[in-house]
Amino acid sequence: MGQKKRVAIIGSGPSGFFSAEHLLRLHPDCEIDMYERFPDPFGLVRKGVAPDNSNIRNVSKAFDMIASNSRFRYFGNVDVGINISLEELKTYYDAVILACGMETSQRLGIPGEDLPGCYTASSIVGWYNCHPVYNLLNIKLDGERVVIIGMGNVALDVARILSRPVSELSKTDISNNAVKVLKESKIKEIYIVGRRGPAQAKFKENELQAMEEVGDTDIIIDPNELELNETSKEEIEKNPSLQRMFDFFYKFSNNTIKKKRQIYFIFLRSPIRILGKGKVEGIMFEKNKLEGGVNQQKIVGTGVIEKMDCDYVISSIGYKGNRFPGLPYDENKGIIPNKNGRVVKGNEVIPGVYVAGWIKRGPVGLIGHNKPDSLETVRNLLEDLPILPRRIYDSRGDVIELLKSKNIIFITYDDWKKIDNSEIERGKFLGKIRDRFCSSEEMLRVITKEE
Ligand code: NAP
Repeated sequence: MGQKKRVAIIGSGPSGFFSAEHLLRLHPDCEIDMYERFPDPFGLVRKGVAPDNSNIRNVSKAFDMIASNSRFRYFGNVDVGINISLEELKTYYDAVILACGMETSQRLGIPGEDLPGCYTASSIVGWYNCHPVYNLLNIKLDGERVVIIGMGNVALDVARILSRPVSELSKTDISNNAVKVLKESKIKEIYIVGRRGPAQAKFKENELQAMEEVGDTDIIIDPNELELNETSKEEIEKNPSLQRMFDFFYKFSNNTIKKKRQIYFIFLRSPIRILGKGKVEGIMFEKNKLEGGVNQQKIVGTGVIEKMDCDYVISSIGYKGNRFPGLPYDENKGIIPNKNGRVVKGNEVIPGVYVAGWIKRGPVGLIGHNKPDSLETVRNLLEDLPILPRRIYDSRGDVIELLKSKNIIFITYDDWKKIDNSEIERGKFLGKIRDRFCSSEEMLRVITKEE
């Protein structure tokens, strides 16, 4: 058995790369293999961040630096849990970190949610971001009114992409398929609906302020929507960021229609039923009031029911992790149960298995929050490393033999850079930042063509 320790990281989003960075820095001998089920890396940075937010996508440059370390290898197009079981993979590594994020949306759990015209935010986000599964979503925007449920940053992303002029979007790396549909879009009104009030919206301040710059779009808020109870007033007074967000809403109260599209914010309404015969035609809300102490206010239904006609409903109420084969799963939180990154079954720690990122703590926080989160996991892993069961296979080449024996076509980081360059080159012809491949097959073809 060689001296070097070896760790597998499953998932190539921010928490995967930050975990790799910490391991490389804190353990001078540790070698890392990162596995990703798609050929292309970066998880939500590529498949979640909105295409008009290219400054956030630029974090991938830092990931390139991490990947350039000779102790780091990338195995794209390898679906751990499907192509290789976790148990089998563990025989090649001293420890495994699952950093597989969350890709599925929470469901509203109300009647009508499965009607055509009702989408989850994750499917819309995947559709405009060339996600191999959601790219093919059959969506026609030939109706005029969309209702988006939820007041988080994803709701703002979706509203921006649906309202921004296509001439601006088409220069980004948005999917060509989405551009085609958005060009024909008849959408005029987008309603962003919160179950709590303006003081409880989860928007990031700068993301909310940026909505003002969306071309040819009015922001309109009925002043009655901005009435606050005493506790909400106190919440706003104590929090300058909330105050600025409230001022933003206030600025647009009484605004009138001047432009091609309108984004309306409405508060204190919970969706209770999506209406329609064969497709979405409307939605019913119950009006809420808030009860509880400062920063702990919860909704209480008032029994007042409202109906709104609409053509589409998009639920943007947070993400949920998928079950990972062979590991416990917390159904309520949608995470893999863990104690500070150590995966647990009941009260027992599962030796050598760790989690980082959203699958560890839930779907909250910005990309940067994954850095300290991954550090906690890596520190605990390094503390355990001397006493973890030894891996069976020693040579760094062994796992490559395994992949080959299973006829798995894996993508290295050099392969990915070829795909990356190819997308950038294709983009030049279309005047886009890059023209993305929307299927694994297309990406693999770039590599096989080169060989
Ligand atoms: P989020 O921030 O958790 O917002 C979810 C929203 O859905 C909240 O307004 C929540 O209301 C509401 N909600 C939850 N369950 C509901 C239900 N059953 N009925 C009605 N409303 C419901 O989630 P997200 O927007 O998906 O964002 C996830 C994370 O990614 C966040 O940390 C976000 O900041 C981050 N993100 C950042 C950016 C960026 O920086 N550009 C972009 C996208 C996402 P309550 O408050 O009442 O629970």
